[in-house]
Amino acid sequence: MPAIDSLPPLREVIATHGLAAKKSLGQNFLLDLNLTAKIARSAGDLTGADVLEIGPGPGGLTRGLLAEGARKVLAVEKDARCLPALQEIAAAYPGRLEVINADALALDPSERLTPPIKIVANLPYNVGTELLTRWLDPADWPPFWDSLTLMFQREVAERIVAQPGSKAYGRLAVLAQWRCTARIVMELPPEAFTPPPKVRSAVVHLQALPEPRFPADARLLQAVVAQAFNQRRKMLRASLKGLRPDIEDRLLAAGIQPTDRAETVDLERFCALARNLES
Ligand code: SAM
Repeated sequence: MPAIDSLPPLREVIATHGLAAKKSLGQNFLLDLNLTAKIARSAGDLTGADVLEIGPGPGGLTRGLLAEGARKVLAVEKDARCLPALQEIAAAYPGRLEVINADALALDPSERLTPPIKIVANLPYNVGTELLTRWLDPADWPPFWDSLTLMFQREVAERIVAQPGSKAYGRLAVLAQWRCTARIVMELPPEAFTPPPKVRSAVVHLQALPEPRFPADARLLQAVVAQAFNQRRKMLRASLKGLRPDIEDRLLAAGIQPTDRAETVDLERFCALARNLES
């Protein structure tokens, strides 16, 4: 396969800049540039889009995003050791890569980007889940981004795309699918990373819908879903009884049997229940 750019191979970049992977920063690097270009393509057409990349590390995915034509990449990296390697990429793509040395959890980079904005990241899993829940729950909808293309451990990816009736179905599925389409676009074995993590990984692509699939107040919907799945084996009349004294009537009005369990209730009926609780 032809090289995606004329920069040195990533193993060389890592050796030159002394970027031994740090466990404390969740560093499992992708060194195959054809694979990172494929991940970049799974984010859709990047030409004419700004991309926010969190955790570029030595820059494998960054190079994929730029080679695939992103108008601009804003890369936020906590580890200052990676900056010289990232500056070399910036020099090879003049004016298209901006690097910020910061903790992504403590930064709002949205004002530095021009729509349409795509977020693409291969992040440590704990940071990824925290950022995902923030991106899915902004003060206003639609959010500042159009799509999210994120690497997760496979089990988390399955929770994001899960359907009612499955073990993986829960808060994350409802939160993600209420206002986005969500699908797994790629699966990766541990050997794809250096060093290899213990688990398999998957890339999830979430596309923001212009408005929620079903109307509901975000806070109420989240309260209902949190309480319902907190005790997922219990019948809803028991797990939700703290919400309202007449919860059984309200469940019935939303098309839910009081004896149903949370994992069998679809998004439409959770939204109907949240609307009913407004009255
Ligand atoms: N994107 C690179 C790749 O695919 O090879 C690196 C992936 S590695 C799994 C995660 C990267 O996120 C590391 O470079 C790490 O330093 C960075 N990172 C970890 N926590 C971060 C945070 N809170 N904010 C920004 N970057 C972070």
